[in-house]
Amino acid sequence: MTIFVTGGAGYIGSHTVIKLVENGYDVVVADNFSNSKKEAVKRTRELAGKDFPLYEIDICNERMLSKIFTIHDIDCVIHFAGLKAVGESVEKPLEYYKNNLNSTIALLSAMKSHNINNIIFSSSATVYRPDNKMPLTEDSLTGGCTNPYGWTKFMCEQIITDTVNATGRLTAVVLRYFNPIGAHESGRIGEDPQDTPNNIMPYIAQTAVGRREFLSVFGDDWDTVDGTGVRDYLHVVDLAEGHVAAIKYATENPNGTSIFNLGTGKGVSVLELVTAFEEATGVSVPRKITQRRPGDIATCYTATGKAKELLGWETKKTLKEACADTWNWQKNNPNGYV
Ligand code: NAD
Ligand code: UDP
Repeated sequence: MTIFVTGGAGYIGSHTVIKLVENGYDVVVADNFSNSKKEAVKRTRELAGKDFPLYEIDICNERMLSKIFTIHDIDCVIHFAGLKAVGESVEKPLEYYKNNLNSTIALLSAMKSHNINNIIFSSSATVYRPDNKMPLTEDSLTGGCTNPYGWTKFMCEQIITDTVNATGRLTAVVLRYFNPIGAHESGRIGEDPQDTPNNIMPYIAQTAVGRREFLSVFGDDWDTVDGTGVRDYLHVVDLAEGHVAAIKYATENPNGTSIFNLGTGKGVSVLELVTAFEEATGVSVPRKITQRRPGDIATCYTATGKAKELLGWETKKTLKEACADTWNWQKNNPNGYV
């Protein structure tokens, strides 16, 4: 079976490519390197032990997608490609809507022309309304997103669902990720934000390695265990395995859209995360409590029942392992792939 991986040079994509190859799949990667480096693909090939094809294209370009689908007999698409910085999406909404929506539409159109009937889509916990009860289940209410990035995921889910309903032969698995952290155990690939990190884990790692002076903790007056924000942090390698499970599920349950939350089911506060990182690595992380970040919510974590029951997937790696693997990547690559 051959899997077409859009955004396969990125953080989650590169780890998933390795898991796909380990599980016997052939892989074709496409990326425009707008938020990644060719070095990541080189190292992914080394770790996978396989020289898979790579196309440097914009996924919005349906003509190029069509060319690739003529060359390769693709069975399933995993659509990681997209812009993902929440703050940037508020400043540049049109870039986000253009890139994330047009890429999804071009991909679905090219898939239709070439009779490719399986798609796994990277969605996010941000599609859930901020006022849901915790833990979030796949039936929790969606919408009311607080930024354009979240709306692009919400809209792409709708575009995929409508296309599935119209064609009758498409199978879509929508994966709503919670907070991926960690890196491949080799320390050769990991998360490499191009600018100042938006997410907490790369910020912690860059502070630990001396690239940042201190971590700003965005508020200690939330209604949580210690006043700091609570999230559901899962190891990126576990998340990668979730995609392997999703492909199996799609092939065994054809026609229709299925939605799964992928997370650990455990909420961890910012201060608990920092402590876990310090304990796992022996490196201290200077921090200062600052103002709340606009748009943040107190707590977000998932119920894990549906993914366990239907995908046969659950996280295996601990928070400590995720912290140790993040540090292994960061200390060996203090400036990322550069
Ligand atoms: P990433 O930025 O590391 O990877 C995305 C890749 O897509 C990058 O290599 C980028 O160059 C590429 N890309 C973007 N637009 C493209 C286009 N038009 N054509 C070709 N390539 C393009 O991000 P990631 O963390 O690996 O996330 C992967 C997916 O998962 C994204 O869709 C993201 O929104 C989603 N997601 C990520 C998180 C997270 O915390 N990392 C959480 C929830 C959902
Ligand atoms: N956070 C923080 N400092 C940072 C980045 C994030 O205190 O520099 C907090 C943030 O307020 C939230 C948690 O860490 O409570 C996770 O934030 P992140 O942006 O990584 O994920 P998201 O909020 O999108 O789930």
